[in-house]
Amino acid sequence: MWDQLQKIILNYSPRDKELIRTAYDLALSSHGNQKRDSGDPYISHPVAVATELIKLKLDSSAIAAALLHDVLEDTPLTKAELRDAVGDEVSFLVEGLTKLDRVKYRGFERTVESTRKMFLAVAEDVRVVLIKLSDRLHNMRTIKWVRPEKQTRIATETLEIFAPLAYRLGMGELKGELEDLSFPIVYPEEYAWVYKETKERLSERNAYLERVRPFVEEELKKGGLKTASIDFRAKNYYSIWKKLLRNDLDMSRVTDLTAMRITVHTIEECYQALGIIHGLWKPMPGRIKDYISLPKPNGYRSLHTTVFCLDDKTTEFQIRTHEMHEEAEFGVAAHWVWEAAGKPKEGTRANVDKIAWVKRLQEWQRDFTEESGEDFMESLKIEFFKDRIFVLTPKGEVIDLPEGSTPVDFAFHVHSAIGSHMTGAKVNNKMVPFSYILSSGDSIEILTQKNQKPSIDWLDFARSSATRGHIRSALRKTGIEPPAIKEIQEKKKTTTLLIVRENRIGLLKDITSQLARDRLNITKTESDTADVNKPYLLIQFEAQKHLDLDRLLTRLKKIKGVKEVTVKKND
Ligand code: MN
Repeated sequence: MWDQLQKIILNYSPRDKELIRTAYDLALSSHGNQKRDSGDPYISHPVAVATELIKLKLDSSAIAAALLHDVLEDTPLTKAELRDAVGDEVSFLVEGLTKLDRVKYRGFERTVESTRKMFLAVAEDVRVVLIKLSDRLHNMRTIKWVRPEKQTRIATETLEIFAPLAYRLGMGELKGELEDLSFPIVYPEEYAWVYKETKERLSERNAYLERVRPFVEEELKKGGLKTASIDFRAKNYYSIWKKLLRNDLDMSRVTDLTAMRITVHTIEECYQALGIIHGLWKPMPGRIKDYISLPKPNGYRSLHTTVFCLDDKTTEFQIRTHEMHEEAEFGVAAHWVWEAAGKPKEGTRANVDKIAWVKRLQEWQRDFTEESGEDFMESLKIEFFKDRIFVLTPKGEVIDLPEGSTPVDFAFHVHSAIGSHMTGAKVNNKMVPFSYILSSGDSIEILTQKNQKPSIDWLDFARSSATRGHIRSALRKTGIEPPAIKEIQEKKKTTTLLIVRENRIGLLKDITSQLARDRLNITKTESDTADVNKPYLLIQFEAQKHLDLDRLLTRLKKIKGVKEVTVKKND
């Protein structure tokens, strides 16, 4: 197994190779004699997952985490042992993956989109999502060994959650493969029908495009595009099925069953090639799409046109640069900067357009905050997703709440009747106080009693003003006049910490977990990286009389990556 890996990591630095080797050895010894359903030694699975990520040129930490992705869940290895062996970054990624495993899609139509978002939020690092997607890809490739009922559940989840996630991240190739592995399992009859209907058409189509190719080649050469490459690939079966559903199951209306693809070097050449094609054959009106000037929301760029080609048959052409092609296949992985100390690592992809990706994710988040009525500007202040948490009801439904929310917010969010009668709360099966700060992935159960009445104290535990509003009206219903809002605001004095920090994954989480130890109610976080020498993080929390601030500051200063902490009290 190691031989296999060794051959494909030649481009990584000696230090990277060493880390990958350490991770491999630990995975091998931890999984011991475990076997896959296929009967193969378990290690074959993490090696397959790592192999996919090496193809995407991910950094060595991600490769190491891929090799170790199942050790915490499936072997006796502890978090501490893991950290000792491979360090903070790799164990952070592995723990992220373990948390993701708790997120289960239970087939509630309205929670599909939330579940997808929750994956991103819980993952905290896009590498965790990429490892998870590769994990799922290998599990789907080997699904025939799994018992049938389980196959259906896994394939449905793949189709509903993972394939769209791959699409959102712009990973066209992965999305197509995940879909076509799941399609026959989830919709066997539909798949059989599409397969039968397209089989003949596809081979006819390929023969036809082979005839078209020399004409295109010739004209492109004449037009000066000597190095353009031409190929064609069939649409994947699941996409064909979805298109058929939109077109009354009429196969003749699917004109892009197989599209001709022209790849050139520059954007100018793309438009030049489009002109050449239109000079050869007449374009179909309304079918010229310029995704270069106006990329799709997931970042896809290309020019598309459908023309009346040889024998008057309609044929779609897709024209793109090599760079656009790479983006279309690898998506976020083609873009993301796998950096350490500000520099892209050797053997990994350079940072081409990170900003565009951050923007895209923020846009995604914006759709989201509009739905939930949160202020858009407010949501942009904080790093994407950092201001929302995603938690689960006992039935596995996903609920999103502002960061810093407590069981009180959760209860009133689910239903006022549950909030008003709450007597206690369990988080991940353990009783917690009402002031407990929830985090993404927590599963929450609210205990209620009919004769329980709301209490004024609960106002102190509410993170959102919506919850406070609910509590106030619940209080009034039971004949208690809630304190005037002004009074509460006066009572709520805040303390602000200004933390000068390094850029480190998981830093914010480490800081907030220290604040959570003192049960502090965070009211605001803000981060600013405009000044590279002094990126800071501002954290505001409700002042507490009994807080030992000095001790808190000592703990914060010990966190790796925290350079300075200053305090401002707003009295
Ligand atoms: Mn796995």
